[in-house]
Amino acid sequence: MDSVRTTCPYCGVGCGVTVLQEGDDAWRVRGDADHPANAGRLCSKGAALAATLGTGDRLLRPRIDGEEVAWDEALDTIAARFAATIAEHGRESVALYASGQLLTEDYYAANKFVKGWLGTANIDTNSRLCMASSVAGHKRAFGTDTVPGQYADLEQADLVILVGSNLAWCHPVLHQRLLAAREARPGLRILVIDPRATATTAMADRHLALAPDSDADLFGGLLADLARHDALDDDWMAAHVGGAKAALAAVAPLSHAETVRRTGLSSEEVGWLFEAFRDTGRVVTVYSQGVNQGVRGTDTVNAIINCHLATNRIGRPGTGPFSITGQPNAMGGREVGGLSNMLAAHTELDDAGARERVQRFWGSPHIASRPGPKAVKLFERIADGRIRAVWILATNPVDSLPDADRVREALRACPFVVVSDVVPDTDTARLAHVLLPSAAWGEKDGTVTNSERRISRQRGFRAPAGEARPDWWQIAAVAQRLGARDGFGWRGPADLFREHAALSAAAGSPDFDIGAAATLSDAAYEALRPFTWPWRRGSDQGLDQGGNTGRDAGGGVAGPGGHRFFGDGRFHTADGRARMIPIVPVSAAPAPPDDRPFVLNTGRVRDQWHTMTRTGTVPGLSSHLGEPFVEIAPGDAERLGIGAADIVEVASARGCVQARALVTDRQREGSLFMPMHWSETFASRARVDTLVSPVLDPVSGQPASKSERVSLTRWPARAFGYVLLSERPVRLPSRRDHYWALVPVPGGWQLELAGLEGTSALEATCRRLLEAGEQVSDDPEAERARWPRQSDPAHGDSRRLLVRDGRLRGAAFVASGPVNVARRWLIDRLGSPLHAGTDGSKGGDADGGTNADRMALLAGRPGTAVRAPGAIVCSCHSVGANTIRDAIGSGRCRSVAELGETLQAGTNCGACRPELATLLRIGRPVPASA
Ligand code: SF4
Repeated sequence: MDSVRTTCPYCGVGCGVTVLQEGDDAWRVRGDADHPANAGRLCSKGAALAATLGTGDRLLRPRIDGEEVAWDEALDTIAARFAATIAEHGRESVALYASGQLLTEDYYAANKFVKGWLGTANIDTNSRLCMASSVAGHKRAFGTDTVPGQYADLEQADLVILVGSNLAWCHPVLHQRLLAAREARPGLRILVIDPRATATTAMADRHLALAPDSDADLFGGLLADLARHDALDDDWMAAHVGGAKAALAAVAPLSHAETVRRTGLSSEEVGWLFEAFRDTGRVVTVYSQGVNQGVRGTDTVNAIINCHLATNRIGRPGTGPFSITGQPNAMGGREVGGLSNMLAAHTELDDAGARERVQRFWGSPHIASRPGPKAVKLFERIADGRIRAVWILATNPVDSLPDADRVREALRACPFVVVSDVVPDTDTARLAHVLLPSAAWGEKDGTVTNSERRISRQRGFRAPAGEARPDWWQIAAVAQRLGARDGFGWRGPADLFREHAALSAAAGSPDFDIGAAATLSDAAYEALRPFTWPWRRGSDQGLDQGGNTGRDAGGGVAGPGGHRFFGDGRFHTADGRARMIPIVPVSAAPAPPDDRPFVLNTGRVRDQWHTMTRTGTVPGLSSHLGEPFVEIAPGDAERLGIGAADIVEVASARGCVQARALVTDRQREGSLFMPMHWSETFASRARVDTLVSPVLDPVSGQPASKSERVSLTRWPARAFGYVLLSERPVRLPSRRDHYWALVPVPGGWQLELAGLEGTSALEATCRRLLEAGEQVSDDPEAERARWPRQSDPAHGDSRRLLVRDGRLRGAAFVASGPVNVARRWLIDRLGSPLHAGTDGSKGGDADGGTNADRMALLAGRPGTAVRAPGAIVCSCHSVGANTIRDAIGSGRCRSVAELGETLQAGTNCGACRPELATLLRIGRPVPASA
């Protein structure tokens, strides 16, 4: 078959991919060289997409209370329970909770169902956690939720300021584009503003490690400095911007010295930013979750936008504020109105004219008349019983919402919970009364919109697993059962997209209008090439609507479609002028309580996505960071008696989690960082959002996820273990007495363990894990050969192998301190014959392995003739830190390019290049377990 062009389902960069079938159920995924977002690049997650296509962990049929049922029974049950709940408790007693992973067509159907059929605005989305503060900031400044620029602006700028963005790990392809632009034009400078050092700061020209939550003051100070230096564009402001006087008055107290005091930066650092902004015409300020998830997220967004508006650095090539979304279709959700305060097509629920237009277009019997609860509030209403039936689509709020244990309790107590997902084994899906199997990436069809407003097709290329169905189909089927005769009879996603496009032209939004797409034929929808909105009726963006089927049969990329908003000075407010918002500096945060002296910052890592429901199944993606960790500054660790690789507990007023200590000078004293990915599927107790308080931005309702007050203590583990298994363990050690983290590795599974009891108890636990499913032979000789082992009772160390058919099938190492073995080398040996040799010797004995080989495996390290590769840095080519260090130490490699030429490291997705640069610079790796 021809290759199929589709879009990566992970982050807001929205990379195009091509998929080619190579066998019965074997697929090759490549970057789409013609896609404008990535021009062929993919990061480690995108490059590993083919490995997520297995169906072993999929939900294949609907379930009610855990029992498989037919679709009709599941859909009838949902319709009956929703109808009964509404009849008894009113329409505000039901809700949907959606996701930025939904395709636009799914999202459109969900929003129409709730706001246009059920007549409530009880629908919100996990995008509330991601970028609601950007939406609110845009609307305050521009009148609409409009992203002014496009990715090319980063390449055309002379100064790119990244605020609260670990672009290198969270939007790797965009970061690679930026680095490539700087390489081609060394005058381009990159400044990162972030409390902690990251892979992004490693590649920046400057890093300003400001105090947490002081970004708004820094940009307020910048605005004040621009005014003091007469660097504002007064003529532009007079013609196109309102509110300047009040905005400037608000920041007047922010002298240079006061900005230094509030941000914790040095005078020189603050001066560097002020001067660089003042003296550079082409400035793009990129911001992401570090801004949006702040306690003043919306104010920070407007503080940034104020500086661009006041200096006319917006709407022209190489300029502008630029919000980068986390999720693949957060923007699509904004377009359809998936947020509870929006209606549809960028119109507001509290706009009576828009309500009337949308209701007429939909032919709705009821339409929501006021904004609904935002994500956290929606779950509060579930908790207090006002919402009694909820349908959750494509998200895992039990792990991703703040105060996550309370969310879990709310769902446990909710009389009726429906979950649509692709897998049954999530912490949310386990609580569903009705579980619906959704079509996954590669099976579903529709569109997504990336951070630069580019709409791309996501195409199916394989049959749905089992009886999985698209989310829009599920929603339409329930709506019809509830009595919706018209408006939900879509035959496929093309019908939905045409309707969505037609509504965008009819709803009256000044910016989001893709009315030209309302008349696309099915074939043209199938062939649709990536384009950026607006695409108004009568306009021509050079789209290739004919002939091309979306299969890789040639045909050019759609025309540039590169509309930048606001370059003409016209904004979407009533008077056409932008608004500068007065951002008043706030008083210092109250001193931390003595018992919780640390500020916890939560975020993401390079190779995982959300709660690992897809990426967590890919061995290659778990090799970079294989367990939950806490980044701790060396001084804090020393003071608290925490050693490298100890297990620690982090506790807030709401909960307590465990993770591995990662002591690093990238972290500032008094602050901690933890990834948000780990669920109970993959770790004993590392759901970081159980710690986070539901503190909401007062404007956007977005929860703050970067500033929880926590304590940090060493968990008094008395024994540590490391176990390799060929099969996924069915029974895991108790969460009460053990720390554990489980990830797939090539050929099996890896379990990191620690226990409160001594080494002999943990050894017994490890032995049970290894022995599970093994037949015991009555031949003692054979048993000895099968279970090579060693122990050192004086120190409590023990090592045990499982050898079957002459191959290594498992291994367990127990010690009284963190286990020190060459993990990557051991993983590479799993499933291999013992006589593969570690010391160069060959030959075999009864079990096919040399004694030296067995001894090396029991030692957990190769013989002296072989160097263990070390922790994986380059996931694409499995290149370990030791291999890289050796290449650097030998003098063979003195640059990232030379490491690529010699080892292939960093030559595929490039996401590890910042870590390679760090290794070159300081000779040690960025975080990875040994
Ligand atoms: Fe996917 Fe990576 Fe591109 Fe994001 S940067 S869309 S995760 S390939």
